[in-house]
Amino acid sequence: MSGPTLESLIEQAAEALLRARHAVAFTGAGVSVPSGIPDFRSPGGLWSRYDPQEVASIGALKGNPRRVWEFLVEAMDFFGRARPNPAHLALAALERAGRLKAVITQNIDGLHQAAGSREVIEFHGGCENFYCMRCKTPHAAAAARAVTAADLPWRCACGGVVRPDVVFFGEGIPAQAMESARRHAFAADLVLIVGTSGEVQPANQIPVQIKHGGGVVVEINLGPTLYRDVTDIRFDAPAEEVLPRLASRTHC
Ligand SMILES: [Zn+2]
Repeated sequence: MSGPTLESLIEQAAEALLRARHAVAFTGAGVSVPSGIPDFRSPGGLWSRYDPQEVASIGALKGNPRRVWEFLVEAMDFFGRARPNPAHLALAALERAGRLKAVITQNIDGLHQAAGSREVIEFHGGCENFYCMRCKTPHAAAAARAVTAADLPWRCACGGVVRPDVVFFGEGIPAQAMESARRHAFAADLVLIVGTSGEVQPANQIPVQIKHGGGVVVEINLGPTLYRDVTDIRFDAPAEEVLPRLASRTHC
């Protein structure tokens, strides 16, 4: 491969990060793959046995909650066993060092928080909160993990189906997450795109907004993505290798 070496790209990205006053990260499934959580667009793993429309859409949640809950039990088991990898940890270190203001994530696995990131905007919700679809009573995540296959779907005392506070296909982005993400995108002068190829609307517009506002776009992704036209510094390399080097280069 020709072009700039990894070392010179890290140098460029570190300089841009040291100049930035409001850097944010925008992350997707790819950042959690090294933690053992499969991307549903990739073959194998969880998603080879489940159709996203059948288990992760609002229509399915209303029409076949038992099937959705079979999937949720398995997905929560995956998330429960997953640990943050060096990419998550480096982003948390960058925030502690004052180099990063926020992580805007499309992931629902909670691994950024587990790594120590404090300002995490979960664009698609998360699996740490549950509530009843009928009476809206909140339910604890610990109780969700105790639900057994015989009890599916998990029901509230009122008889309503309990659901995670996650954005299903066919649902809108939570207003609070949208507002926080917009606020950071407006203020940002640099965005680190990590592990997301830009296919999911409307989340994928965040880096584009930052670019249009004059911000620098640093992309760490494997393979081609839809961000080709907005990226200033692009790493075609694993985030769990690039981010720790970038963090140490910026004195974290
Ligand atoms: Zn209820």
